[in-house]
Amino acid sequence: MTASSLFGNYARSNLEFDHGEGVWLVTSDGRRFLDCGSGIAVNALGHCHPHLVSALKAQTERLWHVSNLHTIPEQEGLGRRLTEATFADKVLFTNSGAEAMEAAIKAARRYHYDRGEADRFHIVTFEGAFHGRTIATIAAGGQEKYLEGFGPKAPGFDQVPADDLDALRAVIGPQTAAIAIEPIQGEGGVREIPTEFLRQLRRLCDEQGLLLIFDEIQSGVGRTGKLFAHEWSGISPDIMAIAKGIGGGFPVGACLATDAVAAGMVPGTHGTTFGGNPLAMAVGNAVLDVVLAEGFLEEVQSKGRSLKQKLAAVVDSHPNIFSGVRGHGLMLGIKCVVPAGDVVGVAREAGLLAVPAGDNVVRILPPLVISDDEMDEAVARLDATATAMEQKLELEGAAE
Ligand SMILES: *Cc1c(COP(=O)(O)O)cnc(C)c1O
Repeated sequence: MTASSLFGNYARSNLEFDHGEGVWLVTSDGRRFLDCGSGIAVNALGHCHPHLVSALKAQTERLWHVSNLHTIPEQEGLGRRLTEATFADKVLFTNSGAEAMEAAIKAARRYHYDRGEADRFHIVTFEGAFHGRTIATIAAGGQEKYLEGFGPKAPGFDQVPADDLDALRAVIGPQTAAIAIEPIQGEGGVREIPTEFLRQLRRLCDEQGLLLIFDEIQSGVGRTGKLFAHEWSGISPDIMAIAKGIGGGFPVGACLATDAVAAGMVPGTHGTTFGGNPLAMAVGNAVLDVVLAEGFLEEVQSKGRSLKQKLAAVVDSHPNIFSGVRGHGLMLGIKCVVPAGDVVGVAREAGLLAVPAGDNVVRILPPLVISDDEMDEAVARLDATATAMEQKLELEGAAE
C-alpha cells in the first residue's frame, strides 16, 4: 500500500464505503453495515433519501453559487421556515458547526459592544463541552487535549462544571456576556443537562442581562424527537448554533438568534463566502420537508423510547461490558465498563457502526428513519458484540 497523501489527523478505520441505502452503508466488496453513527448525527434521513437526492439534483441544474453579495431566495425560504419553527427571528447560514458557534460567539459579544459594554465579552461554558475545532471553539470547549500545542487559549472563555449553579454564579462577573451550553452533550458522552438546570440558566441570564446560547449542532433537527432538544425544557435561548442534521449530509450550519441579538450584525461585521449557497439551501429545505411533516417527530419519540428500552436489556445482560444507557430520542449513549473504543471496533466487525464519545460512552445515533426491524437488528448486533467481548475476556482470564 502506498502512503496516504492526507494529513494524519484522523484515526480512520480501513472501511471504504461505496454507497449508502437508508440506514445501510455498503463497501465495494458488498459488505453491509448498519449505520448507527449517521456520520456523527449528520445523515438524519439516512443515506440517499430520495427526497434529498431529487432536491439536490434539481438544484444542481439550476444554480450552484452566487455569493452573499446577492439576494438568495432559497436562503430566505429556509430562514423563514427555521424562524417560524423556533424562538428565533433571524438566521445566518454557515458551512459547519464550528462556524455556526463562531457566529454565535461573535453575535453575543457584538450585542454587548453595541450597548457600550465592549469589555463584556466572556462566555461561560461547561466541563465536557464540545463546540468545534477552530481557535475560538476549542477555547469554548475548554478540553486540554484539543487545546494543546496551538498557542495561547483564546481569551474570554470561563468554564465551570455542568449542573453546578454555585460555581456558575461565582464565575459570572461584569465581563460576562453569555452562557453557552449543549442541552445534551454529544462528544462529552451523551450527557443530558437536567431540565431544571437549563431553566435556572434562563433565569440567571434574564436577571443579569446575559445571553443564553444553545449549541444544538448535534442534538437538533429532530434527533431527540423534538425539532430542537431544548424544547423539552420549555425555555428558549437567545442564540442557537445548528449544523449536522440540517444538511442531511450536505455541509450546512446556521446561527439562529432573536431580533435583539441579530441587530448587531450589521453589514461588514461578519461573512462567509460559501455559507447558505443555493445547493445547501435546497437540501436544508428538503430535510425540513421530511422532519416537519405531520407525525415524523412523534415517530422519532416512540422509536427512541423503544430503542432505549431494548438497549437497556442488552446492557443488563452484559454487566461486564456495559453499565448503563442514557440519552433522549435517537441520541443515545451506552456507558461501557470496557474501553468504548474497543466496543466500537468489535461492533464494526459485527456489521454495526457506532461512535465513541467521552466518559467511556458508545453513541448510538441512527438515522431518524430507522425502522423497527432495523432497530431490532442493531440491538441484536450490539448483543453479539457484547457476547464476543465477554468470550475474549474469559479467554484472557483463563490465560492468566
Ligand atoms: C459536531 C459539533 C460541533 C462542530 O461541528 P463541525 O461541523 O465539526 O464544525 C460543535 N458542537 C457540537 C455540539 C457538535 O456536536
